[in-house]
Amino acid sequence: MTAPTPATPMNVHLTFDIEVWCNGWDDLDGRFPASFERYCYGSSQHGRYALPKTLEIMNRHGITGVFFVEPLFSARFGPQYLDTITKLIADAGQDIQLHLHPEWTDELPSPPIADATRKRQHLTFYTQDEQAALIGLGRRLLEASTGRPVTAFRAGSFAANRDTYAALRRQGILVDSSLNAMADFTGGSIDALQAPGEQRTIDGVTVYPITVFRDGFGRARPAQVGASSIDELTQAMLAARAAGCRHFVIVSHNFEMLKPGGSDPDWIVVRRFERLCAYLGQHRDLFQVGPLPLPQQVRPVSPIAQRVTVSPWSTAVRHVEQLRRRLG
Ligand SMILES: [Zn+2]
Repeated sequence: MTAPTPATPMNVHLTFDIEVWCNGWDDLDGRFPASFERYCYGSSQHGRYALPKTLEIMNRHGITGVFFVEPLFSARFGPQYLDTITKLIADAGQDIQLHLHPEWTDELPSPPIADATRKRQHLTFYTQDEQAALIGLGRRLLEASTGRPVTAFRAGSFAANRDTYAALRRQGILVDSSLNAMADFTGGSIDALQAPGEQRTIDGVTVYPITVFRDGFGRARPAQVGASSIDELTQAMLAARAAGCRHFVIVSHNFEMLKPGGSDPDWIVVRRFERLCAYLGQHRDLFQVGPLPLPQQVRPVSPIAQRVTVSPWSTAVRHVEQLRRRLG
């Protein structure tokens, strides 16, 4: 017996965390130019497989995603770098929202909070007031760059806790996609993280967690482009839709199509991303790809990971791909 198929398309949110790293915290200014080139463009003899190729593939298939852009680095190196990133994304007609890596805080020439003498990686290591100040700085930097209001947020490393939601509300940001059951930094401050729903409300903020599914070997996995096979992703989306889910959140990064440590393309991930966008473009009757909706009706938590399971074959393919990537 097959379950009745829902008539309306399921919302799929193809999201990217866009960030620049300098491969450590020593000699930041010396390392920054090459780092920026890699993380923004990812140029090699094959093309530009960071932001430009990501945007090109999405636009070729008519897919609109959400680009959570990390702006704190630009308070160290200059707004022109952030402007370069946001212009690439905006010119491609894609949605820009706020991503925040507070480990930049102690590297900025004018500290945005009083206690900036030590490095604290995760937003959850800061008080609610400090979180509000850092989110506020990120919001202002990004809004100055795009000329548009920030309406949605994702914490760096998925590190959010209950204070994060109070801080977001204080900054007028009422949509979030920070929670990831596979990366729990909440310290127990948020209930039911291990059974995250497709949509929930925390302290007045509408939250769309990263979708987690059961892989073909029964293990929970996040829906991440760099960490799932194409069949795992498509089967998980179909299973979620059949189970009546309304939101499916996929995560990726500006550098997921690059091999670690350089700018050569990782062809396995490139092909996977091409196929994912093609699949979504061809199945608009099943999936509606777009931004995270602003707060509307509240729905109860529905544990996706228990209901959304993919075939063993699709997971076996990913294991082979991962092995090839490690060897290649
Ligand atoms: Zn990040």
